[in-house]
Amino acid sequence: MREIGHFIGGKHVAGTSGRTSPVYNPATGEIQAQVALATDAELDAAVQNAKAAQPGWAATNPQRRARVFMKFVELLNKNMNELAELLSKEHGKTVEDSKGDIIRGLEVCEFVIGIPHLSKSEFTEGAGPNIDMYSIRQPVGIGAGITPFNFPGMIPMWMFAPAIACGNAFILKPSERDPSVPIRLAELMIEAGLPAGILNVVNGDKGAVDAILTHPEIGAVSFVGSTPIARYVYGTAAMNGKRAQCFGGAKNHMIIMPDADLDQAANALMGAGYGSAGERCMAISVAVPVGEETANRLIEKLTPMVEALRIGPYTDEKADLGPVVTKEAQARIKSLIDSGVAQGADLIVDGRDFKLQGYENGYFVGGCLFDNVTPDMDIYKTEIFGPVLSVVRAKNYEDALALPMKHEYGNGVAIYTRDGDAARDFASRINIGMVGVNVPIPVPLAYHSFGGWKSSSFGDLNQHGTDSIKFWTRTKTITSRWPSGIKDGAEFVMPTMK
Ligand code: NAD
Repeated sequence: MREIGHFIGGKHVAGTSGRTSPVYNPATGEIQAQVALATDAELDAAVQNAKAAQPGWAATNPQRRARVFMKFVELLNKNMNELAELLSKEHGKTVEDSKGDIIRGLEVCEFVIGIPHLSKSEFTEGAGPNIDMYSIRQPVGIGAGITPFNFPGMIPMWMFAPAIACGNAFILKPSERDPSVPIRLAELMIEAGLPAGILNVVNGDKGAVDAILTHPEIGAVSFVGSTPIARYVYGTAAMNGKRAQCFGGAKNHMIIMPDADLDQAANALMGAGYGSAGERCMAISVAVPVGEETANRLIEKLTPMVEALRIGPYTDEKADLGPVVTKEAQARIKSLIDSGVAQGADLIVDGRDFKLQGYENGYFVGGCLFDNVTPDMDIYKTEIFGPVLSVVRAKNYEDALALPMKHEYGNGVAIYTRDGDAARDFASRINIGMVGVNVPIPVPLAYHSFGGWKSSSFGDLNQHGTDSIKFWTRTKTITSRWPSGIKDGAEFVMPTMK
């Protein structure tokens, strides 16, 4: 059995804890590798490597740091097919979707190539008599990132690209479900010219996370995953004196106004609801048609589309979506669907019994469509993270707006309408971090920033964009006064500021 260890100090290092976690091929249910789970001592070894390498890297001028990312972007493009295949094999998503995962991370690497410009500082000449005041941003030192299974390419790059561009060393603790792409990314960073010790990958579970959260040399922690763990990581990091940005779960609504182009809305719902088997934090899981007629027409359009979804292994080039990540995820999703039926929602398309010939042990769930879902039901309150779309019917715009406003989560939301006034009102009043107007998955591009509100995010600075440069650096403000000196000739009297 292949064992996946750690990547520390620019080298592959075998795990020594004796504890491992299986890495599955979700399409077949086979265990394809065992990933090592690090001990505190293994995490500390990575930190010591990082500590030794970081001052030299911080002293490397920003243009040279940027050049490493130029080369890295080139290597990502060169190795795109191999990376996407590796990602799909452990995650289960289609190869084209895996390319999207890598490319969204690559775009953050392109953004940080601007680090010489992004890290320029503020200066006030003459803040007082002969006094200049300036602020510089210096790296935090050692940063850490803890990432989820659903974007094993993009999310590690969201974190390590700005952290490293800013002059930090970085410890990445990827999801134990799909650790191979993060390790490959670290290898490619070395090939791109990054000094050893600046990017270390330590595999593990809660033990490794706790070792990160309590390690005195780690100054900043970035987390993406489910809300209970995000809340825990935020609290524990803060208690240990670290800055933290922690991003959690979601329940993203799409409001469909009576004037919307329903073909466009239905197509958008298909991609945003079922793409990547619904395992995206920006997936749309609730559709809110406004008015009975809109709802009836929408259900009529969606039903045959959901029935026609092509579900297959990542090797099927025509598949719309693949399996979900684990047997436990599959069982959890099915039991939530059962609860929706038991609590009175109408299951219009039932994918619970979906089976794929030759892949009977894969973790597949067929596309499901619920109608007449209400806010008290578990399928509405909970993040299902599977290929399940719930339709909640709203009488009017205000009722529709109130649904995402009152929901615990606040990651993304969308409105489909032809009315600019309604769209503008919606974007202004909604209490959610990322808003799409006729855009179903409004994931901001790398030079803007990504982050939700409410229980979808803890901390104040978002991922990527200029927020990320602030998160991975500390401000130092210098007030300097240069009394008149040699240019005025020798002075024998004590200079004063009278
Ligand atoms: P998860 O919370 O189970 O795991 C995330 C990370 O936390 C992993 O590295 C895991 O090893 C670690 N972890 C798990 N249990 C832990 C514990 N008890 N203590 C400490 N660390 C622990 O999440 P997941 O299942 O990998 O990912 C799916 C979740 O991530 C969904 O809720 C999804 O919405 C969310 N997500 C959010 C965003 C966002 O930007 N808001 C993006 C992607 C995914």
